[in-house]
Amino acid sequence: MQPGGGAADETIETPPVRANWRECRQCGLVSTLPRMRPELVADCPRCANTLWRMRRHPFELPIACGLSALLFYIYALVAPFLEISAYGRFQLARIETGPVELGLQGFTLVGLLVLAVTVIFPGLKLGIVLVTLFGIKSRVVPARVLKAIFRWHGPIGPWAMVDVYLLGFLVAYTRLAAIASVHLDTALYALIGLMIMMAATDAALDTEAVWRALDAADDPCDETPVTMTSAVIGCPTCGLVNRGADGDGCRRCGTRLRPRKTESVARAWAFVVAAMLLYIPANIYPVLLITQLGASHGYTIMGGIFELADYGLWPLAMLVFLASITIPLMKLLILGYVLITTQTRSAETLLARTRAFRLIDFIGRWSMIDVFMISILVALVRFGQVSNIHAETGAPCFAAVVVLTMFAVSSFDPRLMWDALQPDDMNVNTQEAAGI
Ligand SMILES: [Zn+2]
Ligand SMILES: [Zn+2]
Repeated sequence: MQPGGGAADETIETPPVRANWRECRQCGLVSTLPRMRPELVADCPRCANTLWRMRRHPFELPIACGLSALLFYIYALVAPFLEISAYGRFQLARIETGPVELGLQGFTLVGLLVLAVTVIFPGLKLGIVLVTLFGIKSRVVPARVLKAIFRWHGPIGPWAMVDVYLLGFLVAYTRLAAIASVHLDTALYALIGLMIMMAATDAALDTEAVWRALDAADDPCDETPVTMTSAVIGCPTCGLVNRGADGDGCRRCGTRLRPRKTESVARAWAFVVAAMLLYIPANIYPVLLITQLGASHGYTIMGGIFELADYGLWPLAMLVFLASITIPLMKLLILGYVLITTQTRSAETLLARTRAFRLIDFIGRWSMIDVFMISILVALVRFGQVSNIHAETGAPCFAAVVVLTMFAVSSFDPRLMWDALQPDDMNVNTQEAAGI
C-alpha cells in the first residue's frame, strides 16, 4: 500500500512506471522485461505471448529488405502477371484487372476489398516502415510526425495479403490450365519476390527498437497529472506501460489508453452473429458461374473443391477446404466459445483458450484464398459466350464472412478472459506494478 493515504493526499505521486515494464496484450499481466540482448526473445511469463524480440540490426536490415520489396512492388504494379489464350483469343491480367472486372460485374465492394488487400495495404505497410526507418536515420522528419505514421503499422499489418493472394493464384492457375493455354508473366515473379521480401522485412523489424529510437529523438507526449487512483495501463500501439486514467494519451505515442477495449464483447458478438448468418448463403449460393460453349454451370465453394479433387489435385483441394470451409467455421466456433466463457467469467482452461484465440488471429486471413481465386478467374476468362467466368452471389457473402470474422477477432480483448482470475492468483509482477 502507499504510505500516508488520506483524503488530502490524493495528489501524492505514485511510484513511476518503469520503462522495462510490459503489459501482455493477451492476458493483461504486467511483467518486467529481462535484461535484453540482440536476438533474445522476451515472452510473457503467464501465457508465453512474445513481448519483445530484440534484433541485432533493427534499422539497416529492414531498410534493405523493405527497399527490395518496394522495387518488386513497383514492378508488380506495372507489368502483367498472367496471360491466357483460348479459342484463338488472348487475355492478360495485371494485379488490378480482377478488381476492375469484379466492379464491372456489379461486385464493386468485393473488387475494392481485393484491391485494398493486394495493392493499397501492402504499399502503405511498406511505405510506413521505410519512411519511419529513413526518418530515424536521417533525422530530417520530426519524430512526432514519424510516431504519427508508425502507429498505423500494427493495424494495417494483417490486411496486407500478398502471400495469401499467391496461394489464390495457385488455385486459379490450376483451374485455368484445364480450360485454356496459360502463360506465366514476369510480374508473377515480382509478386513472389515481394512476398518473400515483405516477410523478411517483418522478421527483421524490431518495433520496440523503433519506438525507443523515436522516443529518444522527441520529447515525450504531455503527461497527465498522476493521482493515487491512476491505474497501470499498457499502450496498445507502442507497448509502453503508462500510469493514467481511462482516456488519457500514451506518454510515448499519444494513443488513447483504455484498460480494456471498449464494448469488446458486444462488438465481437455483433460481428460473429453477422458472419454466422452470412456463412449460410456463402456456402449455399454459387460463387462462380462458368460458361463454356453456351452452357453455364454454377460452382459453390464446395463444388470448386470437388472439381479440384476430380482433376486429382488432392493437396490443392485439401488446401481450399481448409481455408474456405474449416478456418471460417473454426473461427466462429472458437470465438463463440471464448465469448460465452468470458461472459460467464470462467477461470478454467485460460491458457488453452488464449492459445486458440492466438491461432484464429494468425490463420484468419488465409480464408481469402477463394476470393482471390475468383478475382483472377473473372479477370482472365472473358471470351463472351464461348467461354466466360462471372462472379455470383456467394462471392460477396463469403468475402463478408472473412472480413467480419477478422473484425470480430480484432474487437475481442482476450485480457477479459483473464480478468476472471481472483486477485490472489495475480502474479507478483502485476501486484508490484499496481502498487499493491
Ligand atoms: Zn500474457
Ligand atoms: Zn503508446
